[in-house]
Amino acid sequence: MDQNTGSKVSEKFGDMPKEDFRKYGYEIIDWIADYFEEMENLPVLSQNEPNDLANALPKNAPELGEDFGDVIKDVDELILPAVTHWNHPNFHGLFSTSTSSVGVFGEMLTAAFDQKAMLWRTSPASTELEPIVLDWLRQMMNLPEDFKGIIYDTASVSTLHAIAMAREKLNLDIRTKGMSGRTDLPLLRIYCSEQTHSSIDKAVLLLGLGTDAIVKVPVNERFEMDTEKLREAISDDISAGHKPFCVVATIGTTSTTAVDNVKKTAEICERNDIFLHVDMAYAGSALVLPELQHHLKGIEKVDSIVTNPHKWFFTPFDLSVLYVKDLDLLKQTFSLVAEYLKVAEEVTNQMDYGIQLGRRFRSLKLWFVMRYFGQEGLRNRIREHIRLAQLFTMWVEMSENFEIMADTTFALVCFRACPKNVEDLDAFNEKLMNEINASGEAYLSHTKLNEKFTLRLSVGSIRVEERHLRKVWDLLNEKVK
Ligand SMILES: *Cc1c(COP(=O)(O)O)cnc(C)c1O
Repeated sequence: MDQNTGSKVSEKFGDMPKEDFRKYGYEIIDWIADYFEEMENLPVLSQNEPNDLANALPKNAPELGEDFGDVIKDVDELILPAVTHWNHPNFHGLFSTSTSSVGVFGEMLTAAFDQKAMLWRTSPASTELEPIVLDWLRQMMNLPEDFKGIIYDTASVSTLHAIAMAREKLNLDIRTKGMSGRTDLPLLRIYCSEQTHSSIDKAVLLLGLGTDAIVKVPVNERFEMDTEKLREAISDDISAGHKPFCVVATIGTTSTTAVDNVKKTAEICERNDIFLHVDMAYAGSALVLPELQHHLKGIEKVDSIVTNPHKWFFTPFDLSVLYVKDLDLLKQTFSLVAEYLKVAEEVTNQMDYGIQLGRRFRSLKLWFVMRYFGQEGLRNRIREHIRLAQLFTMWVEMSENFEIMADTTFALVCFRACPKNVEDLDAFNEKLMNEINASGEAYLSHTKLNEKFTLRLSVGSIRVEERHLRKVWDLLNEKVK
């Protein structure tokens, strides 16, 4: 470290000198450009062992400021090896998600503006850009006009807000009286399928409903919620004196991307006056394609929808959108205005629509993405990912050594190796996955379907090309003969 630089910075006031900001700023842009260009040569999964990074870092902050060049050097030497490259075109685990370059520009400006969008006056930019961009996205997905969007960090948090709305809609004065110590409250019940994401469980924990409130409805052979069983569960609960208040249906489940029947579910909810939330955190992006719009049948009857542009819309983490039909109900659920925040203007104040006071200016990066690629550019890229996933599915189907384990509805392939000479296919597939992941060449993840160990290959990186799928297929076939 350059002691002179250090003491110089430490003795002064104010920010980094502007000439240094330019120098390092250009250096960082070059660094990112090189990273995007050369990423393919890096192992997809970090090859670090646990605590490698922690043990390499000093236990105390430096007393004197350091030369920023030294900090960048440590990014190369210490941080980069500890990074799992989600942007890598051979990241096929979980859901393949990635950022576009313009998404990075969005984050840079969001950091530079450093908005705390609570009141309109503390950020007219965020308050007014957000609904416009979310309406663009709504139109692209062809959702009815009466859905109004609001941005949160993740789908887990969007869904938490939706379930809080459902609870508020009961008019049981839980806002004021809470739920504890009351004998006048029935057991509140929420329904979702066995395949539903665990964010529902987390929301229920946090809202004081308790996990006993959740009814996990069985699925059919296509991993879709069995709506007949849903209807029965609701009717049994009503007979038992419980109060069904919310159903969560999923378009594109996390495990296999199965699609629950929203239309049938909505009819059941309508008949029983139950709030219906639709989780399409992953698949929402694909619903901008006209040929996939049939999955949205019945969507006009639902109360809220979550979709994550940070998953498959080339927007850097985090950006999740909750669309609600009754924005006033969301406001009624969360608004609480302290004296110092009271304003006279007739404006939207974003703090009224959630648990956060200050909010990041997240819409900027989505605006950049939508303007740079255009609707057609976005549709083309998503359509290509689906084509690649279908192509991989065909390779699996044509091979004697592999089999498909669930429908490829969007761009996720569920499959496994099934060579004839192997008895324990679960152990074999697990080993196969671990070997590929350890090689750093590609990242696959797994799920269990009907107790069978199943490999998951997700296609979604903005950098993915057919040759990357071919590479994974070759890797698999080298190991399965
Ligand atoms: C990814 C996913 C979630 C959780 O998303 P976060 O934004 O990480 O909270 C929830 N539901 C479904 C269906 C998902 O695919």
